[in-house]
Amino acid sequence: MKFFNSERRPDGVAEADWTSATWQMQNRVRDAEGLARFISPSADELAAIEKLATTFRFVITPYYASLMDPDDPACPLRRQVVPACAELEDSAGLEDPLDEVAHSPVKNVIRVYPDRIAFCVNNECALYCRFCLRKRMVGEPDWAMQKRELGEALDWIARTPEIRDVLLTGGDPLVYSDDRLDWLITRLREIPHVEIVRLGTRLPVTLPYRVTDELCERLRKHHPVWVNTHFNHPREITEPAIEACTRLVDAGIPVGNQSVLLKGINDDPETMKQLNEALVAMRVRPYYCYQAQLLAGTAHFRVRIEDGIELFQQLRGRTSGFAIPQYVLDTPHGKVPISYPTSRGRAGDDYVVEAWNGGIWREPNP
Ligand SMILES: *Cc1c(COP(=O)(O)O)cnc(C)c1O
Ligand code: SF4
Repeated sequence: MKFFNSERRPDGVAEADWTSATWQMQNRVRDAEGLARFISPSADELAAIEKLATTFRFVITPYYASLMDPDDPACPLRRQVVPACAELEDSAGLEDPLDEVAHSPVKNVIRVYPDRIAFCVNNECALYCRFCLRKRMVGEPDWAMQKRELGEALDWIARTPEIRDVLLTGGDPLVYSDDRLDWLITRLREIPHVEIVRLGTRLPVTLPYRVTDELCERLRKHHPVWVNTHFNHPREITEPAIEACTRLVDAGIPVGNQSVLLKGINDDPETMKQLNEALVAMRVRPYYCYQAQLLAGTAHFRVRIEDGIELFQQLRGRTSGFAIPQYVLDTPHGKVPISYPTSRGRAGDDYVVEAWNGGIWREPNP
């Protein structure tokens, strides 16, 4: 299968260590020195690392660090995870633009819809994305979930019979050990009204070695389990990432992808098309592409919504329908699809639509 990048294991690191999720987590890059083992940091990156040390720490798995272009600060992977001084220049952004805290009936459970919740089971990820919507919690000890607090959230779900769909997110639920994850999903499965369990995880992208056969065996016992992952750029598609997704899909888990539209990273039709076609080739279904939120420190990543709409309109008709994610704007009321207005409404007895190639069609619709 086609991949677009290969990891570069540093000299002196044994393959057995490199491919171990535990080793990767223990040896994450957390400072300028560690970063210099993989890339030549620019002056801007070095200044940002120092200035942002206390606000939004940076953490990168060695695996992901090894995929970055060592010489190009504009590398689309590097920009996602290495601090930039531009993060200090955004005055408009908010800490919690979706008002998630106000939508939490109990700690770390976010309820915007009647029938489903986002359950932030932890505050840890394999690496920290600079544009993360949950910056306020990722890596912040106050947002960690003690076992007692997990129990309180489970009790809330158990006594809220409308909840049929539980999305485990965070942070990242796959940072949990197999045993802890198995315990949590077992508890959810004991609640009769919970029909499906979903996991939102970036680990197939940032630490694919976490997706072991053992993990997939544990997950498949709890079907129906769905997974959504988060690839943003074709160069994140490597052999280990393909293997991780293949393992999940082969365990009968439908895998989707949620990306974020990021300026200078994936905001051109060619990159977006290549990314989503490559995902489809590995049986990962593009689900959503998010408009970047008005989040503090992320102005340099935001694309104008009109430009986003045009980008996705350009894909329509030019690739498989299921290779096009839905472009959505998340709001405190929930996610809102935003798209080119192909429905033009009624004209007499006709309903008028515009096709992908600009053709206008009048469908008789008395
Ligand atoms: C995204 C999200 C969901 C799931 O939404 P779907 O459109 O069903 O994927 C549920 N709850 C919250 C709070 C969310 O942000
Ligand atoms: S993996 Fe997801 S939750 Fe974690 S830092 Fe990145 S965007 Fe945020």
